[in-house]
Amino acid sequence: MRRRERMPTWRCCAGSSVLRDLVIAVVAVLLVAGPTDAQRFEDFVDFEPTKEQFDFDRWPYRLPADVNARLLELAAQYPQIARTHHIGDSRQGRALLMMEITNFDTGDGESKPGMWIEAGIHPNETPGSVYLEYFVERVLAMYGVDPAVTMLLDARTFYVVTDLNPDSRQLALTSHPAWPGYEEHEQPGADLNGDGYITQMRWKDSPDADEYQLLPEGRLLDEDWHMDPLGYVWRPAGDAGWEIKDRERDWTGRREQPDYNRNFGAEWVSEDPGAGEFQFSLPEIYAVAKEMTDRKNIFFMHDIHAGGVGREWMIRPLSNQPYQAMHHEDNDFYRRLEVAWSVLSPGDQTFSDYYTPAGTGATIGGLPPDWAYLDLGIYGFGSEVGGSGIDYDGSGEVTAEELERWHIEEMDGQFAEPWTPYDHPELGPIEIGGYRVSPTGPFPPSIGDMMRIRTDRSFRYFMYVASLAPEVRVVGVTSAQNSDGTLTVEAEVRNEGWLSTYVTQRALEISGSSNVAGPGAALGIRPRDFPVVVDITVNGGEIVDGAASQSLGHLVGKFTYIRQWADGGEEVPSKTAIWTIRPRGSGPVSVDVRASGHKAGSDQRTLEIR
Ligand SMILES: [Zn+2]
Repeated sequence: MRRRERMPTWRCCAGSSVLRDLVIAVVAVLLVAGPTDAQRFEDFVDFEPTKEQFDFDRWPYRLPADVNARLLELAAQYPQIARTHHIGDSRQGRALLMMEITNFDTGDGESKPGMWIEAGIHPNETPGSVYLEYFVERVLAMYGVDPAVTMLLDARTFYVVTDLNPDSRQLALTSHPAWPGYEEHEQPGADLNGDGYITQMRWKDSPDADEYQLLPEGRLLDEDWHMDPLGYVWRPAGDAGWEIKDRERDWTGRREQPDYNRNFGAEWVSEDPGAGEFQFSLPEIYAVAKEMTDRKNIFFMHDIHAGGVGREWMIRPLSNQPYQAMHHEDNDFYRRLEVAWSVLSPGDQTFSDYYTPAGTGATIGGLPPDWAYLDLGIYGFGSEVGGSGIDYDGSGEVTAEELERWHIEEMDGQFAEPWTPYDHPELGPIEIGGYRVSPTGPFPPSIGDMMRIRTDRSFRYFMYVASLAPEVRVVGVTSAQNSDGTLTVEAEVRNEGWLSTYVTQRALEISGSSNVAGPGAALGIRPRDFPVVVDITVNGGEIVDGAASQSLGHLVGKFTYIRQWADGGEEVPSKTAIWTIRPRGSGPVSVDVRASGHKAGSDQRTLEIR
């Protein structure tokens, strides 16, 4: 949920293991050494989870402890492709688990391009974490079954934090009427009719009025502020409509103050409500930021919110500056992602907080995708996911009317109370009923058909993005005999991925020399420029010219190459390393050449010379 969003109109608003091993073996043979193809998001094998794996109709969602237990269970079940890491603890001592997913037989996680995905930063936006539970279940269950999943887990590493704010998630989930721990007095409003829920009050201004006036139960019309069902406090702001008066939310205001989505370093503003005492002051945010910083293979991070209802949308950096402030190459990539998301969704939007409906200008600081881009030099993205109901007319959006229809026709109206007369001391005769006020909105924010459609979509999107990483390959090693008896060995190294090995142009700016020797060094700012390195090992000889380990600088990816080719640029996606070696004695001579990049994986080739 974003700060300048308009006031929400909530009223409208497994198989045999033998077979599995065989499939793994066949797939492994078919896929050896091929570059991971992009443009694959329509190529996945359907995933039909068992109820134990994933239940699209599950409501209420599982509590953090149960999700953690499941992650540990999965890591034990799939040791070859999944590990859980205890990366820190929440303020109340809940374990923060990060799941690392890759084929460990093809190398450690950090030897492959990495993608970081997290959810739960706004705990009342509950579906995001559930989307990641689905993602984890699917990639693990489909490894060796779905060739595309298998290929990506062989060549990529996924780091998944299903919930980075478990204390507040616990509160949000148990504050919903679906939970036994629901406390109606903690909801905004008052339970006037004593039915155990805070619902709605409605009345008509005149007997022949078309529309009802509506207020949450226990609220008054003449209050100059208004608290929505999510607990945001709004006040009138002239022609602009409403603005947020306060970030107080009843359910968080009493027990939980910080806004975890303002506590990252980049563009941090101390006055931003909820920003925290200093950057990364929250232990959960510090834990996440440290893990992302330490893993130099991460080229992309994605932070999931769940403010989407009728549609889902994506949010990109920069949040406090116009698009033009970003290097054109990085901007170009974000544009490509926008298009990919629009095709996949279909038609849903991507925008930056700088360009909000309420006006253009600096908005909010301390967001994780902005921090990832500005300080780590990797691509960062966010999304607003969720949504229940049925898109009856196939418009791509679940309208308020469709949501109502779904609630009545499919859900037997179970999430609302019947309207009953009530004599209000100030409003007079009114009715009380309708949807229950809760921190997660009137309905389960995502279950059923929409959960099925959108978790699948989200999965395809993440896999597509993962496929775009840079990939170094040693494409050829040759040797030539020299007249003095030495050999000249040349290794051509190519980037066969879509992104360049630097990933973002921003990474090259961060790693200016001042960071190494200047003020940056004193501040502990670490370079984020990780060039491609080539190493040679000579068997049966010695190197007489050329360093055994050489930096090749960077190799552009296909996206950049296409652009530079169009621009008449000279950068090419391959470079050559050269050595002179002298054979020892008359025995066999061979060289092993290995190329690697922090965010581009590695590749090795052996040449038998004699
Ligand atoms: Zn949010």
